[in-house]
Amino acid sequence: MHRSDWEGVLGVVGPVALEYLNSLPTRRVYPDGGHPEVKAALDHPLTDDGVDPVQVVAELARDLAPYITAHASGRFFGFVIGGLHPASWGAELLVSTWDQNAGLFPPTPGVAVAEELAAQWLIDLLHLPPESSVGFVTGGQMANFTCLAAARDEVLRQTGWDVEADGLVGSPGVTVVLKEGVHSTVLRALRFLGLGERSAVLVPCDNQDRVLPQALERTLEAVSGPTIIAVECGNVNTGAFDDFDSVADLADRHRAGGNPTWVHVDGAVMLLAAAAPSMSRHVKGLDRMDSWSTDGHKLLNVAYDCGVAICRNPAAHRAAMSVQASYLEQGTGARDPMDWNPEFSRRARGVGVYATLRSLGRSGVAALVDRTVSHAQRFAQALEVSDRAQVVNDVVSNQALVRWLAPDGDHGRLADRVMAGIRAEGLAFFSGTTYRGERLMRISVSDWATDTDDVDRVAQALLRHAEQGSI
Ligand SMILES: *Cc1c(COP(=O)(O)O)cnc(C)c1O
Repeated sequence: MHRSDWEGVLGVVGPVALEYLNSLPTRRVYPDGGHPEVKAALDHPLTDDGVDPVQVVAELARDLAPYITAHASGRFFGFVIGGLHPASWGAELLVSTWDQNAGLFPPTPGVAVAEELAAQWLIDLLHLPPESSVGFVTGGQMANFTCLAAARDEVLRQTGWDVEADGLVGSPGVTVVLKEGVHSTVLRALRFLGLGERSAVLVPCDNQDRVLPQALERTLEAVSGPTIIAVECGNVNTGAFDDFDSVADLADRHRAGGNPTWVHVDGAVMLLAAAAPSMSRHVKGLDRMDSWSTDGHKLLNVAYDCGVAICRNPAAHRAAMSVQASYLEQGTGARDPMDWNPEFSRRARGVGVYATLRSLGRSGVAALVDRTVSHAQRFAQALEVSDRAQVVNDVVSNQALVRWLAPDGDHGRLADRVMAGIRAEGLAFFSGTTYRGERLMRISVSDWATDTDDVDRVAQALLRHAEQGSI
C-alpha cells in the first residue's frame, strides 16, 4: 500500500459516483440479472499476493454497477426506502474518510458533538419533550430494540426488580400490549429482550390499522403489573397514525392504578410528520409517549444505515445501554454516543442527520413530508379514476394500498403481474403486502427526488401493465 493509493482510488470512485448519481433520474430502477450472473461477475479468485487497491476498486465499480438497484431514484416506491440527500451523501463520504470510532467523546470529539447537535435538533423539530435522550442506531429495528430495552428495564425497576443485574429469570412478568398486525421488528425486539413474541397481547385495530381505543381499554383492564404498550406513527401498510391522546389517557389511568407503564411509538415510517404543521392533527398527543423510534434512512433521506431511538426518560435509556470498562475514557461530562445505543465501536451515523437537517432547515423538512404525502395522494387519484384499481386505505400520509381489479377476479395475481411488469421494464419498483388476507400492491413515497412527472409517468405505466396483465 502506498500513500498515493488515496488519489488513485478517489480518481476511480469520483467519476463513477457522479455518473451514477447523475443518472438516477433516467436510469433503470431495478437491474437485470439473477444470482448466478452477479456471482460470476464478482467471483474473482482470492489470491495469495492480493491485488492493488486501485485495481480492486475499479473492478468492483465495474463488476457491481450493472446489479445495483436505484434505491435513491425518485421512481423507487417499494418497501419504505428513503433516497439520498446530497448533504447526507457528502457527510457520509467524510465520515468514511475520517474513519472515526464514535463510541466515546474523548477519542472522537468532532463527530460526537455533531451527533449531540443532531439529537437536539431532532427533539426540537419533532416537538418531543426537551429532556429526551437520543441514540443513533443502525435502523428502525435497533431503535425499537433500544427503546423497548429501556421500557423493559424501567417497568421492572419500578417493581424493585433490577433486570440489568439479575436478568429476567424469576422476575415479575412484563405484559407487552401490541397492535394486531404489529411490525415484525417489534416482535423481533421482544425476542432479543427475552420477553418472547408469544407473550404479547394483540389488540384489534380499525379498518385503517389504527388501534381501537375501546379494545385497548378492555385489554388494559384485564392486565396488571409492569406493562409495555407499543403503537405506531405511520403504519407500514396504511400510513395511518394511532390516536396518541387516547392511548396516553389509557396509559395514565393504567399507571394510576399502580401498574408501571411505558408507551413506545414505532415511528419508522412517519415520526417526521411531527415536524410538518400540516400533519399536526395526526400527531396530537405524540409528545405524551415514553419513547419513539424512527429511521434516518427512510423519510429523512439520510444514507444507510441510520435509525433513531428517543426516550423521555434519559436515566432509563442510559441504564439499559451504557456499560463501563476500566480502559475506556468515560464520564468526561460530554455526550458519549455509546451510552445511548447497543453498539460499542460504531460509525458516526448521526453526522448524516446533522448535515441533512442543517441543509433542509425547518421548512425543508416540513416540505419533504408534505411532498411525499401529496405524491402518494396523486398516485391514488390517478389510479382510482381508472376502472382498473381501487385504493384500499385513506391516504393520510405517504403510503397507499392498491387493489388491482382483475376481470377474472384474481386480484392478487394481477397485483403481482403489475409489480413484476414494471420492475422488469426498469421504470419503477413496487412491493406487495398481504393485508387482511388479501394480496395488494403498496405505494410508498419516501424520496425527496420524486416529482409529479415521476408520479404521472409511473401511474400511466402501471395502468398499462394492468391492462396487459388482464389479458
Ligand atoms: C422499516 C420499519 C421498521 C424497521 O426499520 P429498519 O430501518 O428496516 O430496521 C420498523 N417499523 C416500521 C413500521 C417500519 O416501517
